[in-house]
Amino acid sequence: MMRARLNPAPTLEIAANSVTGVLLPLPLPGALDYKLPSGCELSRGALVCAPLGTREVLGVVWGQADGSVGDNRLKIAQPLEGAPALPPNLCDFIDWVADYTLNPPGAILAMALRSRGALEPEAQRIAYVKSQVTPTRLSAGRARALEVAGDGLARSIAGLAEDANVSPAVVRGLIQSGALVATQLPEFEPFRHPDPGFALPQLNLDQARAAESLREAVAAKRFSVHLLDGVTGSGKTEVYFEAMAEALALGSQVLILLPEIALTVQFLDRFAARFGTRPAEWHSDLSQKERRRTYRAVMKGEAKVVVGARSALFLPFRHLGLIVVDEEHEQAFKQQDGAIYHARDMAVVRARIEACPVVLSSATPSLESFINATAGRYGHLKLLSRHGAAQLPQVKLVDLRQERDLPDAQQRAQWLSPPLRAALVKVLEAGEQAMLFLNRRGYAPLTLCEACGHKFTCPHCSAWLVEHKYKKRLACHQCGYELPMPSGCPQCGEIGTLIACGPGVERVAEEFAQFFPQARFSIASSDTMHGPAETQAAIRAMARQDIDVLIGTQIVAKGHHFPQLTLVGVVDADLGGSDGDLRARERTFQLLHQVSGRAGRAQKPGLVLLQTRNPEDAVMQALAKGDRDGFYQQERQFREATQSPPFGRLAALVISGYDGEAVRDIARQLGKTAPLARDVKVWGPAPAFYALLRGQTRERLLVQTARGIDMQAYLKSWLAIVKVPASVRVAVDVDPVSFF
Ligand code: ADP
Ligand code: ZN
Repeated sequence: MMRARLNPAPTLEIAANSVTGVLLPLPLPGALDYKLPSGCELSRGALVCAPLGTREVLGVVWGQADGSVGDNRLKIAQPLEGAPALPPNLCDFIDWVADYTLNPPGAILAMALRSRGALEPEAQRIAYVKSQVTPTRLSAGRARALEVAGDGLARSIAGLAEDANVSPAVVRGLIQSGALVATQLPEFEPFRHPDPGFALPQLNLDQARAAESLREAVAAKRFSVHLLDGVTGSGKTEVYFEAMAEALALGSQVLILLPEIALTVQFLDRFAARFGTRPAEWHSDLSQKERRRTYRAVMKGEAKVVVGARSALFLPFRHLGLIVVDEEHEQAFKQQDGAIYHARDMAVVRARIEACPVVLSSATPSLESFINATAGRYGHLKLLSRHGAAQLPQVKLVDLRQERDLPDAQQRAQWLSPPLRAALVKVLEAGEQAMLFLNRRGYAPLTLCEACGHKFTCPHCSAWLVEHKYKKRLACHQCGYELPMPSGCPQCGEIGTLIACGPGVERVAEEFAQFFPQARFSIASSDTMHGPAETQAAIRAMARQDIDVLIGTQIVAKGHHFPQLTLVGVVDADLGGSDGDLRARERTFQLLHQVSGRAGRAQKPGLVLLQTRNPEDAVMQALAKGDRDGFYQQERQFREATQSPPFGRLAALVISGYDGEAVRDIARQLGKTAPLARDVKVWGPAPAFYALLRGQTRERLLVQTARGIDMQAYLKSWLAIVKVPASVRVAVDVDPVSFF
């Protein structure tokens, strides 16, 4: 561990205070100059306490002073006694991310220091061990407690009471009698080390080959990128587990990034089955205390494996030996608030700085990764078939223009076509499971007054309010605004004229229940209405086969493994829209392919029915034919022809604020002052898709350049021209993935 180092024998040359740059976790343009106490020398990463105005702020020694502050005005930064230092690699990473995303480095540092109290000296906790003293009175409970304590482990009062199945009073009695004595333990229970040899898998030939490549890459301790490109159910997890085992055997740390917290539960169990213990976790659901524990253990190198959301990228790893990005194509890896960055791309950067390999895993890689792999810039490891007897599912298109219920049918359906219902009947009769997928939360995306045409919209966003029938509320999915479901129209006052337009998952579930009153089903939807706990419960019920049918949004599309699931019905395959933005087609393909991949993952063959009104569409055809690479080639040609990423570069400026006039004014000024440059095009300003979001007006500009252009330099010179008032925010989104 690196500590604030006091110079043993201050010599004359350094008797004068040394001056150094200190980065504060604040959105300032860069590091500030500070003096260090006389004779004190600190290296990059060391923590200091720095005066700022009337405050004292935690800061990090960053490097050379820039000499901008006169010596007589310099303040003194005090080293933080007993605190560890940030690893220099993390400091380099922070600088890189700041440069690339055009954020102040202090704003990125703030993300790396987010665990409150993690850097303060560790508290101690009292625990008890058995002494030599035998108590005079020895009840059965006391005897049991002493027997348990006989293993020599130090336990808290509650811990020993639980292990020995006695009341805490019994333990306290033993303490009083002197049979147990107090001892000090570190504040946190240490993490158990995963055992690379705990349960070795039997890999099939493809898997073994891929695993061997990855093991070699880990052993080489050099930077390299590998696309683990395997069909759904091919065992990509098993393969990268072997790379992790190699890293663990070499004593390195491993970081696994998952796109959604909802995916971690199944992952933790699988990890424990392979390595004998659960890994450390890092995501927004942890308590402050858990965060502190993990942060410290990562910093000391004691937490060997961390599984986390994108923010885990900024943890202070001591010696990172491998990064895995699972489901690397997922848009959830793009952080959209605050500092905008793409965790997959930044994972590659961190791996380069740490000189370790990074594995990008997906059945539907991002087009960027696919092109890099086919061009030989990334290693390309392919798993072409499902593990064991499992076959890829059959995908059929249901043409909704033809498959409507006959007008005289007894019971007419709006969302579940006759072929889909027939398939459901079969699956339920066979005692198997099905999944119905619709990427829309709630009951209905739009509520309309039949009498006057009034549409319910959010007062703070340019978005419709979505009906949630179970909770009897209308909600905005952008800002969380809610109101109780009204009985009449607020505009014309008529009662009973409100109609629900279009389906959400709740409405599909309602129709399903009408047709299959006996079937057991649950809804899984990441929602303000259905919390993560409810979603987890539905997923667990599905895995345990307590339910027959899971009806869900994109939350059920990814990663899950339900062996009895043989039918996937996609209620509206056209929802992604082929003409939305640059990535809409790719995204639709990936999502529908992932959903389809949930079917038939064990012995029984799977069937996927895609309900569509555009069966001729290239995305639908590629899905039906299972021609992923053909689709990717087509997309690649399109991107190349239009100089879109990765053949060109994109950046967006999003201008927002509560003062709509000021926002539009700055947007116009930016539009007018965009420097003219070769191979640079600027579009806009134009109102954003959500022109109003959480009460803020939003305008956008889009910059497209040729691949060789220094986008950051261009943006910097441009943004330096326009003076932006404090009431307006200009957010820079380099490599945008969504265009809202
Ligand atoms: P993917 O992530 O590629 O979709 P998974 O890693 O989830 O696939 O594997 C699919 C299923 O097959 C899992 O239940 C996994 O445990 C099982 N599996 C894959 N490879 C093996 C293997 N070599 N031995 C035993 N089970 C395997
Ligand atoms: Zn809203």
